[in-house]
Amino acid sequence: MAENKKIPYKIYLDENEIPTRWYNMRADMKNKPFPLINPGTGKPVTAEDLTPVFCAELVEQELDNDTPYFDIPQEIQEYYKTFRPSPLIRAYNLEKALGTPAHIYCKFEGNNTSGSHKLNSASAQAYYAKKQGLKGVTTETGAGQWGTALSMACAYFGLECKVFMVKVSYEQKPFRREVMRTYGASVTPSPSMETNVGRKINAEFPGTTGSLGCAISEAVEVAVSTEGYRYVLGSVLNQVLLHQSVIGLEAKTACEKYGIEPDIIIGCAGGGSNLGGLISPFMGEKLRGEKDYRIIAVEPASCPSFTRGVYAYDFCDTGMITPMAKMYTLGSGFIPSANHAGGLRFHGMSPVLSQLYHDGYMEAVAVEQTAVFEAAEMFARTEGILPAPESSHAIRAAIDEALKCKETGEEKNILFGLTGTGYFDLVAYQQYNDGTMTDTIPTDEELQKSIAALPKFE
Ligand SMILES: *Cc1c(COP(=O)(O)O)cnc(C)c1O
Repeated sequence: MAENKKIPYKIYLDENEIPTRWYNMRADMKNKPFPLINPGTGKPVTAEDLTPVFCAELVEQELDNDTPYFDIPQEIQEYYKTFRPSPLIRAYNLEKALGTPAHIYCKFEGNNTSGSHKLNSASAQAYYAKKQGLKGVTTETGAGQWGTALSMACAYFGLECKVFMVKVSYEQKPFRREVMRTYGASVTPSPSMETNVGRKINAEFPGTTGSLGCAISEAVEVAVSTEGYRYVLGSVLNQVLLHQSVIGLEAKTACEKYGIEPDIIIGCAGGGSNLGGLISPFMGEKLRGEKDYRIIAVEPASCPSFTRGVYAYDFCDTGMITPMAKMYTLGSGFIPSANHAGGLRFHGMSPVLSQLYHDGYMEAVAVEQTAVFEAAEMFARTEGILPAPESSHAIRAAIDEALKCKETGEEKNILFGLTGTGYFDLVAYQQYNDGTMTDTIPTDEELQKSIAALPKFE
């Protein structure tokens, strides 16, 4: 019996157990996510609208709400073998420190140089760009994980890579920048003077340190105005959740080998890609009525899209040049106060997860920064891995659920996504260690202001 096997500290799959197909949760959703809207026509975007911006095959994946499985091309499977399968860790030492009867598992995606799950989608997007005969791709990066992942993937598949890096990160994280340059990417601080939108933002807000929404605007402008270039995005989009389903598919295979049935599945949510990927096969069962799981999205209290945002059409960028997405949003004009979890500072959320949350298939909690770093410290000391601040949001929620189990004596299985490592986040750890870290929570007035500026579109 699978249940009687002693569960190892790390469950490693074999190379031949890496998924060969991505799973598309949308196929099992009764209420599909709302379509992207072309702000010029006010109509749902068509493939023709998107192909000047994105690679053709990625456009197909983006618009396909019905095909449940997509074969992973052989070339991507080969590349996945260089950094996958990723381990499923049983956090025995954390359980012991907490004194909880709960069993805590985490799927660790930080074992590659980018230090996060983002390489799963970066490699897919770079592959399709190369296959289409393109010269290069543009993108934005905030904290730097996505830019690093894309630089690695472009180096592997032989593409040029132009990264607009949010200025504050460019200055604060020079080492991230050098990693990207080592893989051959060019890195420009955003807002720059190289684009119309960058010049406009610099003129309007002199000395601005930039934002993710602004860097997106610049990257899109360069992609559509440069021959042989397209734009790629590391989160939010349906195609990215599709690629990230490898996380959940592997996690499920590992669980099944040992008869583990998760009761609670937890992930941090920035644009929703790691959470969407981790929950995919489990949510599929839930949507088909085969099984039930509690699913929890964890966001920073400083950028609380699910818990305090509205479900409405909004732009994905500050410059308002992208299509509009119906999602939980704080408004594209919302600039969250400096929070160290850079990967969670996006004003919106994946349209797929937004619809699932709206329909009651998942819950969301917002957590404060110092509480997140307390959890990160405890995890580092017990389990040895230095977690990324983003990932530590999920650790916080997993610890809180495990402590509830201690109260009730329930032996629940908790699975969370450990999305990456925190080696480039030591300024944040330093503030935490020095006791100078603060928690900032936007006031209702601040949120109302950016939400009132949402585009008028039903
Ligand atoms: C980018 C990032 C996130 C957040 O992005 P999602 O699309 O919500 O997954 C979380 N953790 C790490 C380590 C990241 O780099």
